[in-house]
Amino acid sequence: MQEQLRKSDTLNIVGELAAGIAHEIRNPMTALKGFIQLLQSSMKEEEHSLYFNVITSELARIESIITEFLVLAKPQATQFQNHDIRKIMSDTIDLLNAQALMHNIQISCHFHEPLPDVYCEGNQIKQVFINIIKNAIEVMPNGGNIGIKIQYEKGKQLIHTSIRDEGEGIPEDKIEKLGEPFYTTKERGTGLGLMISYKIIKEHKGMIDVESKVGEGTIFHIYLPTQNG
Ligand code: ADP
Ligand code: MG
Repeated sequence: MQEQLRKSDTLNIVGELAAGIAHEIRNPMTALKGFIQLLQSSMKEEEHSLYFNVITSELARIESIITEFLVLAKPQATQFQNHDIRKIMSDTIDLLNAQALMHNIQISCHFHEPLPDVYCEGNQIKQVFINIIKNAIEVMPNGGNIGIKIQYEKGKQLIHTSIRDEGEGIPEDKIEKLGEPFYTTKERGTGLGLMISYKIIKEHKGMIDVESKVGEGTIFHIYLPTQNG
């Protein structure tokens, strides 16, 4: 019963967001189509490099939207089962490490043990970790450190994952805006990554807390219950 409820919640999320995503993807696609048509009809060499820049940049935008929704875009049904959060995190880091190193960013991990399993949809939790670590990478254009800790808060029966960066930080009055659809401060941002992450964690009866100091950095705290129901 509980599982069925969760599944239908997930379907609702997909339904709610599908229109927004389609809209977001349609814009760069329209731009790409236009520039490719221009390339076909125009022979002026100096314009080619401008068109190729636009095409590359719009393709990157589509890629970033798809990455943030990677999991939900998969056709397979959601599957809740017991997972070791450390394993989901190390899979996520394997996925993002090359991108981090390319930007001179070191990811360091501290995993407490023993750690009870969390009953969750593994791919969705991975999606949350991807979106938050991706933001941490993007906020340190000149390199730095990302510190990840996973610990068990026995009294509250919560798995507490924290992801810390050394980026610009978030002003206090902007923290409440995090997770709003399309809220972004980036020139080429989607404002979708945190919204989907907040929804996924809420659906797991967990919580996200943000601790930030402008000029010093940000910590995203993700809490997931080890006891469901
Ligand atoms: P996007 O990354 O496309 O902007 P997100 O939903 O992932 O969309 O993030 C929304 C906004 O939240 C970002 O544009 C940024 O302003 C803020 N934000 C998220 N993570 C961080 C972080 N680690 N440090 C500073 N600001 C952040
Ligand atoms: Mg993002």
